[in-house]
Amino acid sequence: MKFVGAHVSASGGVENAPLNAHAIGARAFALFTKNQRRWDAKPLTAKSIEAFKGNCEKYDYQPEQILPHDSYLINLGHPEAEALQRSRSAFIDELQRCQQLGLTRLNFHPGSHLKLLSESDCLDRVAESINIALDATDGVTAVIENTAGQGSNLGYRFEHLAQIIDGVEDKARIGVCLDTCHTFVAGYDLRGLAACEQTFAEFEQVVGFSYLRGMHLNDAKVDFATRVDRHHSLGQGFIGWDCFKFIMRDPRFNSIPMVLETIDDTLWPDEIKALYLLQQAKSE
Ligand SMILES: [Zn+2]
Ligand SMILES: [Zn+2]
Repeated sequence: MKFVGAHVSASGGVENAPLNAHAIGARAFALFTKNQRRWDAKPLTAKSIEAFKGNCEKYDYQPEQILPHDSYLINLGHPEAEALQRSRSAFIDELQRCQQLGLTRLNFHPGSHLKLLSESDCLDRVAESINIALDATDGVTAVIENTAGQGSNLGYRFEHLAQIIDGVEDKARIGVCLDTCHTFVAGYDLRGLAACEQTFAEFEQVVGFSYLRGMHLNDAKVDFATRVDRHHSLGQGFIGWDCFKFIMRDPRFNSIPMVLETIDDTLWPDEIKALYLLQQAKSE
């Protein structure tokens, strides 16, 4: 079964996210469990947690259909000790919030070396940060997202994801999320079914589908291998529909949250419908 949805608003409380997801016909959703541009956050209240769980149950969202995203400020590979410590504490807090909500995965961007560390040292540092965070928490899988490779952000090569996984002790609680826009602008072609076949074969070889815990479904506003992170609505960018057709018809993408982060949220209900229709039209 395919779980397709969008990164919905949790404004007014996390309990609103499942309502917003249901309203657009989503079978999966992403959310921030706190303000993603601030370090500090009030703890989740018991009332909010209960309402979140109740709404998920009411609209039948299981943990494997939900992919929370952490704050953009966190850099688990930060080259400086104090800032690294701040990121690690914030990341543990994010995992604990997921745990409180009964959720089982947390999506995050690996980190940036800020030109002060080598790529390899930074990736090892990210893995160490993950080990510390997993030790301090229970039941939540850390889901590394591949990136566009803008600036000094790591995670734009499948090999980066593999190196981080390699350094994580608890392999049962580490996974990856592939963002189609990031994959494409990082230099993995997704234009046409043959290109998708090849790119995902490379992913299988370097990382492995056994680690895939989510997808971000985005078209790209910028061209191939530009390493610029600009999402576009499906079919309107440089990737095109074939990639999404490929994903919707390939069972390796079953049973994971697949989440739109496309730029026009008024299109989300149509994009979700269009994706499910692609899955059905199997005769071509
Ligand atoms: Zn993404
Ligand atoms: Zn992005």
